[in-house]
Amino acid sequence: MQEHGERRGFLNSPSRMGDESAYSTPMPIRQLSEPMINQIAAGEVIERPASVVKELVENALDAGAARIEIVTAGGGLNLIRVTDDGSGIPEKELPLAIARHCTSKLADDIHDIRSLGFRGEALPSIGSVARLSIRSRTANGDSAAEIGIEGGRVSAVKPAAANRGTTVEVRDLFFATPARLKFMKGERAESSATSDVIKRIAIAFPAVRFTLAGSDRSTLELPATDDSAEGRLRRVAQVMGADFPANAITIDAVRDGVHLAGHVSIPSFSRANALQQYAYVNGRPVRDKLIAGAIRGAFADALPRDRHAVTVLFLTLDPAIVDVNVHPAKADVRFRDPGLVRGLIVGAIREALANAGIRAATSGAAGMMAAFRPGAASYAHAGPANGHRSYEAAYRASGFAGFDPARSPQRPLDMGLEGGGFPDTEPGNGGFGENDQAAFDAGPLHSADARAGQDEAAETLLGMALGAARAQVHENYIVAQTRDSLVIVDQHAAHERLVYEALKNALHARAVPSQMLLLPEIVDLPEEDAERLALHAETLARFGLAVERFGPGAVAVRETPSMLGETNVQQLVRDLADEIADNDTVDTLKERLDRIAATMACHGSVRSGRLLKPEEMNALLRQMEATPGSGTCNHGRPTYIELKLADIERLFGRR
Ligand code: ADP
Ligand code: MG
Repeated sequence: MQEHGERRGFLNSPSRMGDESAYSTPMPIRQLSEPMINQIAAGEVIERPASVVKELVENALDAGAARIEIVTAGGGLNLIRVTDDGSGIPEKELPLAIARHCTSKLADDIHDIRSLGFRGEALPSIGSVARLSIRSRTANGDSAAEIGIEGGRVSAVKPAAANRGTTVEVRDLFFATPARLKFMKGERAESSATSDVIKRIAIAFPAVRFTLAGSDRSTLELPATDDSAEGRLRRVAQVMGADFPANAITIDAVRDGVHLAGHVSIPSFSRANALQQYAYVNGRPVRDKLIAGAIRGAFADALPRDRHAVTVLFLTLDPAIVDVNVHPAKADVRFRDPGLVRGLIVGAIREALANAGIRAATSGAAGMMAAFRPGAASYAHAGPANGHRSYEAAYRASGFAGFDPARSPQRPLDMGLEGGGFPDTEPGNGGFGENDQAAFDAGPLHSADARAGQDEAAETLLGMALGAARAQVHENYIVAQTRDSLVIVDQHAAHERLVYEALKNALHARAVPSQMLLLPEIVDLPEEDAERLALHAETLARFGLAVERFGPGAVAVRETPSMLGETNVQQLVRDLADEIADNDTVDTLKERLDRIAATMACHGSVRSGRLLKPEEMNALLRQMEATPGSGTCNHGRPTYIELKLADIERLFGRR
């Protein structure tokens, strides 16, 4: 209340009244001065040092440079210098380069833009708010020339010494507009914004070498690769780290003349924000809502709302069907047919994810390996055990109870990882003897005579992607073995995914079968939730959930999807109401249906804690292999991790 009162007081204050009277005697209309016009343009084009770097690097790229060196000081506020080996600017054109609306890039057709720049605005804008100098030499020029502009004041062209190419130097950015200077975030933030700009643009120009250095930063060097698919991927790895390509799938699709290429992370390699999503339209880095939304849509049923895929996507299309002249900073685009572009992105990513089949992030396994590395606390008391060779000694010293050297004379813990199995199992069988398995397997056992015919089957299972189930531990983890690895499956996560995929399939084929409840279940809810559910009753019915209004603030549930079995109806209905509230306005219908399926699947899956028989475990593994997308659960977590035998051996110092 107090605050309100003060506000109102301010609005009616005498000083404000005074302002009004000032407005009532306006100045006559007059043309703004050239420097003033440039400063106004600079307000949009040059937001911070990183925007200067972006404009200068774009110019160097437009000039066909193969090497671009960027140096900054004081976060770019004191100095930005960009040197390129491009075409250079002829001496007589230097004054034009810094004049407003002068460009060598745009002929007559604004619909046919093939360069990064086209507005003829960057250099005069920078020159109006900073001290700018350009030194340049063309391939057939005998010498270099230089021009300067400080806060809009142009100096005469004079001869200079330089190699072919152009060096643009910007000092004291915003000295002429102190108000803008106050908005700068500090050296570190501005430096890192500049690095981001370079990285973003460098991904689109793999054949160009970039170096970014300065007293205010650690040097970033991106050696040139080439324009081939591999070259592009190498540049991506330089910028984003080698683990991205290792955890990404390739996208390559065309629809109606629009080409989409690039890489997206597998769902288990996701991030907490969308900063690692790079998008390019005809080689121009863009930040586009439509593209971001399409990526979100494509991953809608693989990632929870608060996780984001890592992506590098290049759209190539006729310049005539995309408008890049939307904003002076040229990072926004408008597509003539947004539906086509969205459909292409969503379709291509979904298909690629499905074709990639089951694949878990290697980072999960890597983390696990790291956690297991000797030197971890549990080994500390073992004294001499920190060397790689003295494991046996270490086990003895630590009094490891389970190890009986008499039973396994060569190596401790030789658990059949080389196909040998436990001592009483023949080599090549690849499995535990039934009696030995009893100690590990919480599920019921086969009878001993059933075993004879199984050797062959076991051999086949070992060749499958997820191998042969060996045991269930902690009532939720299936331990399986392939020929060259150990696989651990989170049975709850895996089953949830399978149920989800089944629900989706059923949904898109026909209505999901439902079962009638003996007594309708009444769920009390906030009125708007009840209303929302009622609005979606028809959709829910397709999923086998029959809901109807039951007076104010309640719904009655008469039928539930059969595949859920007995389920907590109250919780399910509340979760669905939340789900609809969250996603109603943004997602397309199909995505929404899939999300509802995901929520249902979560409720219907085998909870951890359920004991599985060996056949059930193997059946689950086979189902996972056959189901696209089953490498991650509906929340984007991996459903299994695979440890390569080679890595395990390394852990034990055997390699
Ligand atoms: P735009 O890039 O939109 O044309 P700019 O103000 O950025 O506008 O640059 C003006 C002109 O100066 C460009 O059209 C180009 O001819 C020339 N120019 C600027 N930087 C370079 C450079 N590094 N190498 C060669 N020419 C350049
Ligand atoms: Mg430019």
